Amino acid sequence: MVKSYSNGPSVPDYILKLKPYLPGKPIEALEREYGIHNAVKLASNENPLGPSPKAVAAMRAVLATVNRYPDDGGHDLVHQLADYLHLSPDTIILGNGSDELLTMLTRAFLQPGDNAIIPQPTFLMYESVVRWNGAESRFVPLKDLSIDLEALLDNVNERTRMVFLCNPNNPTGTIFNKASFDTFLDRLSSRVVVVLDEAYGEFVQSPDYPRGTDYIDHDRAIVTLRTFSKIYGLAGLRIGYGLMAPNIVRHLHRVRIPFNVNLPAQAAAVAALKDHGFRKKTRQLVQDGLKTIAKALDDMGIEYFPTEANFFLINVKTSADDVYEALLRQGVIVRSMAAYGYSEYIRVNIGLPEENKRLIDALAECKTILSERDR
Ligand code: PMP
Repeated sequence: MVKSYSNGPSVPDYILKLKPYLPGKPIEALEREYGIHNAVKLASNENPLGPSPKAVAAMRAVLATVNRYPDDGGHDLVHQLADYLHLSPDTIILGNGSDELLTMLTRAFLQPGDNAIIPQPTFLMYESVVRWNGAESRFVPLKDLSIDLEALLDNVNERTRMVFLCNPNNPTGTIFNKASFDTFLDRLSSRVVVVLDEAYGEFVQSPDYPRGTDYIDHDRAIVTLRTFSKIYGLAGLRIGYGLMAPNIVRHLHRVRIPFNVNLPAQAAAVAALKDHGFRKKTRQLVQDGLKTIAKALDDMGIEYFPTEANFFLINVKTSADDVYEALLRQGVIVRSMAAYGYSEYIRVNIGLPEENKRLIDALAECKTILSERDR
């Protein structure tokens, strides 16, 4: 065993206070730790259909060339995205997942003494990437499970440099509309970079949803983040993209790791972008699944919240960690929201029809399991 040293280099306090990101439990881990087979994972908002077959074929075609570094700026994919989104290529930058774009943004813009405004709860990575640069987070509670744009403005001070807006918000699935976003922008100091995280934007049905592509030319710094991990079904490849004014793209290239997006990921994303049929099928699967699960929850008298994303927030009215555990034992992996500060909520994403049924059946069993355990 390697010994830990006691007199080694010190780690800054702001790093010591951080908790490592806790991902959804992988299916293999459940099989390893609990000996449970045929598990279903509804914990990380992934695409249950798998990747687009066209993306798989494109990856296969490049596998024999991975002795070479990938294209550093992702030329082909950037140009494909520019065509698809009707934007100029110099407004686009790729990341190793949108997670990496978050790290590039805070590295470029934040320094110790600065702060960022973060709604709470929201995607947990924002807090980490702010801390990694020694900056501080100012947390602003949600109002009725939605981001409270007014309250965010009240929390801006002279050292505020960034605000994170997850729309739809993870974990609540709620959105803010275009009118309230426009009012927010009018009132926000131009010193503040607005990070608009649209990881789930492709699932939104509401016509009032503000799309980041409409804000690239805005006279303030608005950065839109998107990912190939959700509707495109490529979470395992780690690839996302950011849309922003060209001068911000240039800043981010200064702090980007060379060859940050691997070769198979770039090839798969180009193919996935062209596969409109796959995205349509995914959207339909999610809409159907949302309806099925909502009806089942209604029938069971379980409270849940309307969502614009591919996941639900469910109020289990008891310890979310206990329900999470009871579902795990039945081979259904969901996410307890305790780490997000919602100790009685779980988050569940839409799966295949048979996976949704497993969830519904397992939820119905939970009461029995929990009461037997407490006996
Ligand atoms: N933003 C949000 C809101 C997310 O939920 C996630 C993934 N869980 C990400 C960003 C990160 O996505 P990626 O896989 O592109 O890093």
